Amino acid sequence: MSGDILIIEDESAIADTIAYALKTEGFTPHRSELGAEALERLRNESFRLVILDVGLSDLSGFEVCRRLRTFSDIPVIFLTARSEEVDRIVGLEIGGDDYITKPFSPRELVARVRVILRRTERSEMASPVASGFDLDEGRHRIRFCGQDLDLTRYEYLLLKFLLNAPERVFTRTQLMEQVWSSAEESGDRTVDTHVKTLRAKLREVNPNLDPIQTHRGLGYSLVSCR
Ligand code: CA
Repeated sequence: MSGDILIIEDESAIADTIAYALKTEGFTPHRSELGAEALERLRNESFRLVILDVGLSDLSGFEVCRRLRTFSDIPVIFLTARSEEVDRIVGLEIGGDDYITKPFSPRELVARVRVILRRTERSEMASPVASGFDLDEGRHRIRFCGQDLDLTRYEYLLLKFLLNAPERVFTRTQLMEQVWSSAEESGDRTVDTHVKTLRAKLREVNPNLDPIQTHRGLGYSLVSCR
């Protein structure tokens, strides 16, 4: 089992140790020292898991995780400097998958990485997705009626978000908040514009189905097709 892991840690000696241990076990480690920079990478690059230090020099690791969870479900393991229970609870409540207390053994950390990946990637396959669609989060692809869709980043994120809660109606504001987390890329018509282009792409695959429903005055939902 290999794959790309992002280590967000400002102490280079610790990051070196983790990176070395991961590499030895067949993973490909990437590193960020700052929370803001890491978030930017997480928006634009594909990783399988994040190892996140709680004490970074710009944002706290908790804040990084909170922001990350507005646009991604990627598994997060927190590195905490103290063994205080409050840190662990906070970390898990804001969406962390596990935590490890410094000092830790690199082998133990890698073992945790494997456990989390097994757990999350298995449950991903079993996640409820509207029928007619197949979501492949590892490859950032969505198939519709057996065909790979060629989606832009925001079309993908929007459709993925709708797929995770079929039949549920989301307002434009909710969709804006969940899918477009950086405000400068958004406008009043952003959601509508992306729904329109998404619909056109779905229609190209199957002109008889219209899985994205408009709820007048409310917003959109995704309906199951079969
Ligand atoms: Ca630190």
